[in-house]
Amino acid sequence: MSLRIAEIFGPTIQGEGALIGEPTVFVRAGGCDYRCNWCDSLHAVDSQYRHSWAPMSAEAVWAQVRQLSGDRPLTVSLSGGNPAIQDFGTLIAMGRAAGYRFACETQGSIARPWFGDLDTLVLSPKPPSSGENVDWAGFEACRKLGSGARQQVMKIVIFDEADYQWAREAHARYSDLPLYLQPGNSEVDPATPVDLHALADRLGWLTDKAMADGWFAPRILPQLHVLIWGNKRGV
Ligand code: SF4
Repeated sequence: MSLRIAEIFGPTIQGEGALIGEPTVFVRAGGCDYRCNWCDSLHAVDSQYRHSWAPMSAEAVWAQVRQLSGDRPLTVSLSGGNPAIQDFGTLIAMGRAAGYRFACETQGSIARPWFGDLDTLVLSPKPPSSGENVDWAGFEACRKLGSGARQQVMKIVIFDEADYQWAREAHARYSDLPLYLQPGNSEVDPATPVDLHALADRLGWLTDKAMADGWFAPRILPQLHVLIWGNKRGV
């Protein structure tokens, strides 16, 4: 069975969350069951880009990862879209046998047995500004199937006060999950320069708010790749 792959690129650094700064090759799956208002990966989500998603076997994806990494094991980041739509179990098994590590980021709407074979499962439920509703039963199923992963973490993008309050409730629900917050980037057009001052202001607002509230559980981080490359793809 072939995978639908929007892009494979790297090595570069992971720009956000628990693995920020870590060298990685990205495998971006095509297709998503969500349509977030501020999605920055529409080329891997919207069906109008479907023609550009390559049907690839797990072996072909693995060959490209090996070639990009020069056969030097590193972390492979499965992203999307929602990679959980597809079956990455074979790719993970091949990579892990060669000493590679695997991370996957998903919103937590679809649970997969291969979550348990990951090194890092990043569950990123979407706050109100996304326009999506989280199915917590699906999220719970992801947690269960991912129980064999070396670590599970939660990452939430924050745009406004409503998102912040929602993140606090999500954390209260899953206080055992290490939590990473990041200010949202509202400029998602790759051709438009990112307003770094607006991003810094949002990061400052989020940090000040959490500190004023005495909410010390989350780590609050910018998106490193946006600071370096803006919305450019494939870096
Ligand atoms: Fe985009 Fe992620 Fe939302 Fe899917 S879940 S639409 S990839 S932001």
